[in-house]
Amino acid sequence: MQVLALHEGVIVARSAHWQTTCTILHAGEETFLVDSVIYPDELDALAGILAQAGWALSGLLVTHGDWDHLLARFPFPDASVGVAETTAARLRAEPGAAQRELREFDEEGYVERPRPLALGGAIQALPVPGKLELGDAEELELIPADGHTQDGMAIWAPFARVLCAGDYLSPVEIPWLSERGSRDAYLATLRRLQPYVEQADWVVPGHGAPIDAQRALAILREDVAYLEALPGPDAPLPLARRTAPMRKIHAENLERVAR
Ligand SMILES: [Zn+2]
Repeated sequence: MQVLALHEGVIVARSAHWQTTCTILHAGEETFLVDSVIYPDELDALAGILAQAGWALSGLLVTHGDWDHLLARFPFPDASVGVAETTAARLRAEPGAAQRELREFDEEGYVERPRPLALGGAIQALPVPGKLELGDAEELELIPADGHTQDGMAIWAPFARVLCAGDYLSPVEIPWLSERGSRDAYLATLRRLQPYVEQADWVVPGHGAPIDAQRALAILREDVAYLEALPGPDAPLPLARRTAPMRKIHAENLERVAR
């Protein structure tokens, strides 16, 4: 796991698996964790990072309901989990889905967890678009972000000019239309995020290292070009993201758009 401070109130931890990111946002007396890392030792290290900074956790935030973003309940089993209303609805409609997918991942990689993932009762649906107070003086802006999945939000921290983008604008993953994702919704989300990206000091993608505005805008342009060319089989895979796994995602995207 890599840990990087982006600002006096922002620390990003990045998992060794899928480069999944967890962003710690702190202002005043409050601290939120956005999304999660993957492996048990990485998750356990999060409490140490907070202790070292002298920050007490106020709650967890999750950009969307995919299981790999939901794991911070392991080190913080009593924390509330703030999600977009769309994500709360998805988690209600698919009870146990995240737990099942996590179990499959863990079995495949021989990963052992201290206990099953428990979310019940912890989920708090937040109005999106909306604002969330962070300490006495700051707030976070919650931006609808669907298209990768049917649910989700991005989080803008104006005090640090940091955008937690969820699974958009990734330097390591092409746009991924999951089973309930949508190309048009994905494009609308990219257009919605653009003005935040333009004024950001840092964009933290759900997967990949934090990037500056210029790099994020270049990725945004590549991703728009790719999505607009679907369902053309020759939609231009971004140059830096043409690996075998990305071609597999591309094949899935083609099926989804052709539906
Ligand atoms: Zn993800």
